[in-house]
Amino acid sequence: MRLIEEKILKYGKVYPGNVLKVDSFLNHQVDVPLIAALAQEIYQHYNSCAVTKILTIEASGILLAGMTAQLFHVPMLFAKKSAAKNMSDGVYTAKVRSFTHGNEYTMVVSKEYLNKDDKVLLIDDFLADGNALRGLMEIVKAAGAVTVGAGIAIEKGFQQGGDKLREEGLDIFSLAIIGSMDAQEGVTFRSAM
Ligand code: 5GP
Repeated sequence: MRLIEEKILKYGKVYPGNVLKVDSFLNHQVDVPLIAALAQEIYQHYNSCAVTKILTIEASGILLAGMTAQLFHVPMLFAKKSAAKNMSDGVYTAKVRSFTHGNEYTMVVSKEYLNKDDKVLLIDDFLADGNALRGLMEIVKAAGAVTVGAGIAIEKGFQQGGDKLREEGLDIFSLAIIGSMDAQEGVTFRSAM
């Protein structure tokens, strides 16, 4: 069993609304050696893809994205969840429905840091319905750049966002794919389709 799967079984808490809380090692307190090991696996998977940039969303995916970027020797860029005043000219935006907050927000990336020659690897902590990844892909497309794939710490496979994106041709590499989860029954894992 993978280390991250062991951590989920030991410390993960299932909340109503299909939310998995992993605050003790990923979303609040962070197990840095674990994240470094995940970054290494992601690096091995996409090693031959000539990645030029790592793109994530603030906030919880930033450490995994940064550690992955270090292995590729490329910059890490994170989409902001609201535009700062000094970003107003020259931004790419995408409207995204937030899974955890239930509202819609706009992700923003400065045009300065993405261009048509970029080969972009997306990184995030969770993949649920796939809206966050779709928002990032929209921004990459608007820049004329290419999305080479998405490295994910935890995919909730029963929500199908990942499977739909795979069907559309996206190379998604998830370190743990949850097949089912329930507060009483616990968590089970599955492999990628
Ligand atoms: P999606 O856009 O794929 O529906 O959801 C992905 C985003 O929602 C991730 O960036 C993550 O922050 C958040 N998210 C989705 N499901 C969960 C969950 O079960 N637990 C936590 N902690 N975050 C989640």
